[in-house]
Amino acid sequence: MSRHWCLRWIPASNFFIVPVVLAATVVIQTTVPTRAQPFILWQTETIPRTCTEIIPVSLEAAGRDRLFWKNKTELRVRFINGSQALREQVRTYASVWNQYSGLPFVFVEGGVSEIRVSFLPDGTTWSYIGNAAQNVAQDVPTMNFGWFDEHTTGPVEFRRVILHEFGHALGLIHEHQSPAAAINWNKIAVYQYYFDHFGWSHNKVNENIFKKYATALTQFTTYDPTSIMHYPIPPEFTNDNSHVDWNSSLSAQDKQFVRHIYP
Ligand SMILES: [Zn+2]
Repeated sequence: MSRHWCLRWIPASNFFIVPVVLAATVVIQTTVPTRAQPFILWQTETIPRTCTEIIPVSLEAAGRDRLFWKNKTELRVRFINGSQALREQVRTYASVWNQYSGLPFVFVEGGVSEIRVSFLPDGTTWSYIGNAAQNVAQDVPTMNFGWFDEHTTGPVEFRRVILHEFGHALGLIHEHQSPAAAINWNKIAVYQYYFDHFGWSHNKVNENIFKKYATALTQFTTYDPTSIMHYPIPPEFTNDNSHVDWNSSLSAQDKQFVRHIYP
């Protein structure tokens, strides 16, 4: 398996679980008053964290169509654990995709399922990409939400993260790594940020942020900075002060694309 890291979000309320994140937030918040044009990323209660998409190397090399589900009329989703309140959040927002996809998510209480959701509170959120989940044993999760808290996580956070992860489950990959993306990265700033806050090496940043997917893996021909599958990018990360906000809803292209692959 090759692992592809992506940005995800941990609410500030979870900082007692991940102390390093608290430290990062303090640094970030001290910079806010000096910004002439504050960016949403730094003004929220959350900061970007990493997640893992899981794509078998063989499928990645073969092209992204291989990641789409074939010969299915529905995708069964079963919970491994989690409270009823958390499960309800997942049901609610995952089902938003069903309005546009001909391959609906259907929640089941037992038996075989294509997708299995866990809420293991380890601070990591991740998903297998598309049908890569087929290679996972039935008692093992294919998607985890590692920082949801039914008492403190807000509705926008639930919506953003659940829509994003279930996008991965449908076979969608990260929009900012699309070959069509033309982001004028301030690489020095990005390297510094990820080293300071997450200890990432240059290689890890290259692999997970700057590297573009092969054309065969492209989600769509037109780059879509409003996609639910895009990272937020603060203006400090670019040379031209361009930025991408925290997308928390499906974009028009997200809807169009899922209609296209699952008519
Ligand atoms: Zn992701």
